[in-house]
Amino acid sequence: MMVGMDMPMVLDGVAIAAEIKAEVAEQVRELTGRGVKPGLAVILVGNVAASEIYVRSKVKTCGELGIYSEMLTPPESVTTEELLAMVAELNQRDEIDGILIQLPLPKHVDTKRLLEAVAPEKDVDGFHPVNVGRLQSGQPGLQPCTPAGVMEMLRRRGIPVEGKNAVVVGRSDIVGKPMAMLLLNASATVTVCHSKTRDLASLTQGADILVAAIGRPGFVTEEMVKQGAVVIDVGINRVTDERKFVEFFGDDAARRTTFAKRGSVVVGDVHPAAFAASSAYTPVPGGVGALTIAMLMANTVKAAKLRRVA
Ligand code: NDP
Repeated sequence: MMVGMDMPMVLDGVAIAAEIKAEVAEQVRELTGRGVKPGLAVILVGNVAASEIYVRSKVKTCGELGIYSEMLTPPESVTTEELLAMVAELNQRDEIDGILIQLPLPKHVDTKRLLEAVAPEKDVDGFHPVNVGRLQSGQPGLQPCTPAGVMEMLRRRGIPVEGKNAVVVGRSDIVGKPMAMLLLNASATVTVCHSKTRDLASLTQGADILVAAIGRPGFVTEEMVKQGAVVIDVGINRVTDERKFVEFFGDDAARRTTFAKRGSVVVGDVHPAAFAASSAYTPVPGGVGALTIAMLMANTVKAAKLRRVA
């Protein structure tokens, strides 16, 4: 860090998620009192360990907030047709407000067809083309949890977006594109970068708000960040290589202990040294990732309100 510069603000995703969850729990109590108990159904196909952990955590959070949840766990061999039938039934059930299909699905399943089969008003992941269109045209609808969580974080910590230069690195349907659209809707001047972008650093250096959603450990380096920028690191990457560990974390004792115990640590798409130039940043872990489930809960309650409360 440069001498004389203020310490950057750490955007604590865990604390912000706790605020959101407390508010969601309050809304659930209020809705339940009016006979509308929000409900989420999660479809988990096969035995992907990471997916099982995510889904368990989603179901557990539902329980904590008073949201009804159910988990459907078809085997790996399930067909697209069988999954479509499951979704069709969930679409029909009034007490189910949100339907989440945990990705990735086995290769033989037609993921696009399945995501399009979810009723848009129950699409709590915000992946249905109707919700993508609503986001694009600024209409109320369900928005993808991770980028919506980033906007919520900026709003709650008083970080202005209007008129700012925002640069989003990554253009996936899940993070990059909806992130860019949300920032544009909030009146930022948005640049979207990707693997074919030329001279990426010259663009990121102009960012007041820099969002990295790339999937490459420590990709955004110090010289790519403008002094005083707000740096949002969406990346979640596992580092298992000793040399890489040292490159990212040097002699960080706490992380060294984790690395020794687990054989890996998590690093974002931003090199940890690059945060020093920022005015505010999201740590990894404990930043954006912590917000995604809270936003899923918020989306489930929003879906219940939009569909069942006049
Ligand atoms: P994808 O792999 O779908 O997209 C990555 C994007 O990064 C692509 O648009 C790609 O460009 C771009 N990219 C790749 N290499 C470069 C490069 N060298 N220069 C510029 N752009 C590049 O990933 P996701 O969007 O799904 O996820 C991104 C990261 O966010 C991952 O680490 C993932 O784990 C994490 N994530 C975190 C979540 C959370 O809850 N915090 C939720 C979802 C994801 P192109 O399109 O040209 O290929």
